[in-house]
Amino acid sequence: MTFEDFNFDEKLLDGLSSMGYTKPTPIQGQAIPMILENHDLIACAQTGTGKTAAYILPILNKVLHADHRHLNTLVIAPTRELAQQIDQQIEGFAYFLGVSSIPVYGGGDGATWDQQRKALEQGADIIIATPGRLIALLAAGTIKFDHLEHLVLDEADRMLDMGFYDDIVKIINYLPKKRQTLLFSATMPPKIRMLANKILTEPKEINIAIAKPAAGILQQAYVVHDAQKGAVLKHVLKTVPWKSVIIFASTKETVKKLDVVFQKGGLNARAFHSDLEQQEREEILRAFKNKQVNMLIGTDVLSRGIDVEGISLVINWDVPPDPEDYVHRIGRTARAETTGTAVTLINERDQRKFYSIETLIDSVIPKLPLPPEAGEGPAYEPQKKKNISGHGRGGGGGRPGGGGRRGGQGQGHGRPRGEANGNGANANANGGEKSDRRRPKRRRGGNRGGGDNRNTGNAGGNTENKGAA
Ligand code: AMP
Repeated sequence: MTFEDFNFDEKLLDGLSSMGYTKPTPIQGQAIPMILENHDLIACAQTGTGKTAAYILPILNKVLHADHRHLNTLVIAPTRELAQQIDQQIEGFAYFLGVSSIPVYGGGDGATWDQQRKALEQGADIIIATPGRLIALLAAGTIKFDHLEHLVLDEADRMLDMGFYDDIVKIINYLPKKRQTLLFSATMPPKIRMLANKILTEPKEINIAIAKPAAGILQQAYVVHDAQKGAVLKHVLKTVPWKSVIIFASTKETVKKLDVVFQKGGLNARAFHSDLEQQEREEILRAFKNKQVNMLIGTDVLSRGIDVEGISLVINWDVPPDPEDYVHRIGRTARAETTGTAVTLINERDQRKFYSIETLIDSVIPKLPLPPEAGEGPAYEPQKKKNISGHGRGGGGGRPGGGGRRGGQGQGHGRPRGEANGNGANANANGGEKSDRRRPKRRRGGNRGGGDNRNTGNAGGNTENKGAA
């Protein structure tokens, strides 16, 4: 399946390709057609599955043809960080569309509360709000939902855990009854079902089950600069016991480069990628299974399905672009109740991706100190803006120009329940003209960078197409 299958507007497809998205994730494959057909939806899916784009893309495609004078879509999210991330994704996809969004969340001071209100008065197609702040703005009469067409509740279970049930019900009372409602939640406890029954109409349901790594896998990571990867790889191969090892890289170019280095070093290694003939691949796998070859360097073509006993070590030369691929990659070791080690090398660009993986598998993977011969590595700071931009927003912070009509680029201090006291989000409304509203968001000199971001650190080239296997 490709994004073309959804009959998206050309401009949206342009946004997708500039973000480096090549094919839909499973939840996108299922949710997008349902949303385009205007169904209500309950989707049970965790962060890391691509759930955000699963609702943003079809909504953007619809908003394109909507009346831009009115607020069209409300996304409610539990935290400031998530609201920011959703807004950043919208901004990336909507680059060529002229669709506008405003994130609205608590924290900050009184002055910024005023800025935020001003930004909302200028209007937007989509707002992404945390519940407490939204209640405060509704009470102040700042937001009008009369023409709202879509409501999205993202991470609904987390919002209920944070005590937002009553606020959400209150907010929904302000919305038109005729609307499309989409509820995303990592879990489906009875209280979510209750909420769903109250606010959704004949919803379709999607459940995306995520494979968890086997308990026998010892997971470790090194946070490195690209130049340190070679030294760390050598150290791992020397210190972790192994008989057979797989080294994964995200592009075939990187695999080929590593292969050259390994051959020069006289190692018993073979490269495995989609450029090889089927017969060649089978021959390599046979040699690996028979232990005639004890090192395999491969792309994610290798990460699914190959079942070889006795692989005690998996090394990720880079972080896979798709978090689920991480689970598949490391699942090559510790098969059938045995134990194994999975080591991942994380460069600065991959930190955010690695954080998505940790979120997906719900565990923090230990970051080991680098061996002395490698020198000092970077800090692990996946939440930093420059890392967030690694998801396709190049340049780390260049907001589009376009008259600056956007509202809260807030950076308040997350007080989950303290938002409603009017203490203002740190919104950066720089008061653009109404006439600029429809101007596509453009970055001032910021690179788009999205496509490149999906490539691995040391080698260029496109991410390997698993379908080619
Ligand atoms: P989410 O589950 O929405 O938090 O998304 C997890 C990560 O996957 C985010 O970094 C997205 O940018 C990325 N992502 C989502 N869908 C795709 C896709 N179809 N192709 C590549 N990356 C994606």
